[in-house]
Amino acid sequence: MLWVAIIGLAMTVAAVAMAGRRALFLFKLATVGPPAPERIAYAKTHAGAEAKAQLVEVFGQKKLLKWTPSGVAHFFVMWAFFILLTVYIEAYGSIIQGAITGRPNFHIPLIGQWSVLGFLQDFIAVACLLGLVAFAVIRIRNSPKTLGRKSRFSGSHLGGAWLVLFMIFNIIWTLFLARGAAAANGNLPYDGGAFVSLALGNVLPASPLLEEIALLLHIGFMLVFLVIVVNSKHLHIFTAPLNVLFSRRPDGLGAAPEMTVDGKPVDFEDEDLDPEKLGRGKIGDTTWKGFLDFYSCTECGRCQSQCPAWNTDKPLSPKMLILDQRDHAFKVAPYLLQGDTSHADTDVLALLEKPLVGEDGVIHPDVLWSCTNCGACVEQCPVDIEHIDHILDMRRYQVMVESSFPSEAGVMVKNLENKGNPWGMSEMKRADWIEELDFEVTLIDEKMPEDTEYLFWVGCAGALEDRAKKTTKAVAELLHIAGVKFAVLGPAEACTGDPARRLGMEFLFNMLAQQNIETLNEAGVKKIVATCPHCFNTLANEYPQLGGAYEVVHHTQLLSKLVDEGLLTPITPIEEKITYHDPCFLGRHNKVYSQPRDIMSKVPGVQTQEMHRHKDRGFCCGAGGARMWMEERIGKRINTERVDEALTTNPDTVSTACPFCMVMLGDAINEKKNSGEAKETLEVVDVAQLLIKSVKG
Ligand code: SF4
Ligand code: SF4
Repeated sequence: MLWVAIIGLAMTVAAVAMAGRRALFLFKLATVGPPAPERIAYAKTHAGAEAKAQLVEVFGQKKLLKWTPSGVAHFFVMWAFFILLTVYIEAYGSIIQGAITGRPNFHIPLIGQWSVLGFLQDFIAVACLLGLVAFAVIRIRNSPKTLGRKSRFSGSHLGGAWLVLFMIFNIIWTLFLARGAAAANGNLPYDGGAFVSLALGNVLPASPLLEEIALLLHIGFMLVFLVIVVNSKHLHIFTAPLNVLFSRRPDGLGAAPEMTVDGKPVDFEDEDLDPEKLGRGKIGDTTWKGFLDFYSCTECGRCQSQCPAWNTDKPLSPKMLILDQRDHAFKVAPYLLQGDTSHADTDVLALLEKPLVGEDGVIHPDVLWSCTNCGACVEQCPVDIEHIDHILDMRRYQVMVESSFPSEAGVMVKNLENKGNPWGMSEMKRADWIEELDFEVTLIDEKMPEDTEYLFWVGCAGALEDRAKKTTKAVAELLHIAGVKFAVLGPAEACTGDPARRLGMEFLFNMLAQQNIETLNEAGVKKIVATCPHCFNTLANEYPQLGGAYEVVHHTQLLSKLVDEGLLTPITPIEEKITYHDPCFLGRHNKVYSQPRDIMSKVPGVQTQEMHRHKDRGFCCGAGGARMWMEERIGKRINTERVDEALTTNPDTVSTACPFCMVMLGDAINEKKNSGEAKETLEVVDVAQLLIKSVKG
């Protein structure tokens, strides 16, 4: 039995050395870029949430289990990795004990002869085998060869995935062979529980040689698998828990990431600020968290399958955005790590200097500018990859360093700079809607009046865009009826800066945000209600990054509460079939799904019908990520796709809770009416408009 131990341990040393060398390379590569101390700070300050995420997402597989049956299959395969570690302890123990005593009948101290453990080992191995079968079926049914672009595996490295399934299969069958042979020789530590191994022991011959060969095969396949794992997408086995640990809590959605330079929040006043360090222009500018994202991608394509850009035939796939960067990083890794490129030839230098974004870059500009920041990718990613952070960092470099962005968005930027709103209208017009009401609305004159509870943040669209103004007036009227004291800033309100920030114009965002924070703080504002989910998100989640901390609610949250408290009573029936569209920055980014639905459920007569894609899988209207101010030239229009889906529910009305969704869906509905595909009476309204109609009669 000595030869078994020698071969087994020699194989182990060789494989561990190879895997260790690769791990060192990956670590060094991940740390070539700027630091990311804010990620460690996040993990420390959100330790409770991070611990919960490990339990729920890593061990509980919460995100994956939303995708049954692949989630269930993955759950068992992952738990097999943990539980079968005990089988490997037994295997190594047996080859060493066999060398010493001549009998490979090792058992783990204390629990090693407990039939429950034996059962658990056999059960999870069988479940793992069934999981492999499920994975194979899913891969065949979703093959890019048959489904093309619609396959979530389109673009993934398919060969590697099949190889890994094959290797896990080899590990499992050799496990049963080794344990069955051990049972036949009387060396299995379990008298009961290990139902498959004991049954095999009854049919296999009592052969020490068979047991020795099976043990070596079992250990050998595991070692080859280890080397494959650290050289493939299956690296996620080790990196995913780390990526979950260092992701922005709760889930990388809501606030855009704070912009940092050399690991510190950017200071645009700093005269020594190196403009080349704004955002990310080359792969070497990627922080270790970015590399952790690359290393963790399992190529599952869940993000791709949910992306509105990908689903409307645009070139953006969030999966490929990560994989293209990863593949490029590996190509240039030897030179990035060497540092010294003085002897590199021109091809190598060109590769190193390759821009992250450009016609000949790693990422094509059409990919970068197709993103609506809807968050569907981040929401679905089982390993918490933060695609939006990558996109925003690249946009920041393109906008602030290269001055390269879709020209139409330039008009919006100029308007924000000069007039404080994207349409370039006079700030004096911001209070015009008040004149259309038949009650007084308090305009703040420096300070919030003592008896006023809420600042009503009207937003640029709410103040200046005709369709959104209807929502503004409805909300004001509802608050007035409910007796909620509120005031508005009127001309003193400026854009929150959301479109500038999502475009990558962090400098302009900073300017607008600081101006607004100064106004709000001087007025003594504590509580804010906003109708626009983009304003709501920026005020609630992003202004704290710049020192503006307020209690912010969306109007649907406040109105739902007022209805519950009996301060608003919907009486008049609205006999309509209504389908609700979840605004991404209200739903996915801020998890407000129930309140708009609750309001509609309280209106008598309303029949609601969900679209196929709703709540956390809701489909974007196409306006987020500053896309509202860009032409949509490639593929099908996103708003048309969304309205096509709404039409499948045959609604009388489409409701939503965002001024931008109203505009986008309204435009698409008008086109459908013109082409005769939608009934003339179909309209899109805010939930607040429905409520006021029912409350007022
Ligand atoms: S944020 Fe939305 S549009 Fe952008 S990549 Fe993710 S899923 Fe696609
Ligand atoms: S980014 Fe996340 S969701 Fe997308 S393919 Fe990779 S692991 Fe899957």
